[in-house]
Amino acid sequence: MGGLFDGTPWERPVTCAECGRPLEACRCPRDARGDLKRPQDQPARVHRERRSGGKTVTVVSGIDSVATDLEALLKELKSCLGAGGTVKDGRIEIQGDHRDRVAAILREKGYPAKAAGG
Ligand SMILES: [Zn+2]
Repeated sequence: MGGLFDGTPWERPVTCAECGRPLEACRCPRDARGDLKRPQDQPARVHRERRSGGKTVTVVSGIDSVATDLEALLKELKSCLGAGGTVKDGRIEIQGDHRDRVAAILREKGYPAKAAGG
């Protein structure tokens, strides 16, 4: 006797719909539920926040922290911008006002990034 779901639609797919590789070999970005989350599926929002002491930080939200390595992305943004930053609560924070450049860099990487707020 075979497995209960053999040959039925309930059998788990063994290859990735995106890259066609077996799921164990697939390196496509996925969220916590295991659903495909490519950069173009992660609409990022870039806005500025004023901190106490009058400092401005540029905040990136909306990027899936499981599908995307936020620390690696932060590192790239920091070296592009020559600014400091951190990952906090699933958001990227860059010191200073870099909203438009951050949105442009993210769009170059395939994220549909939008500059938001004042
Ligand atoms: Zn894949």
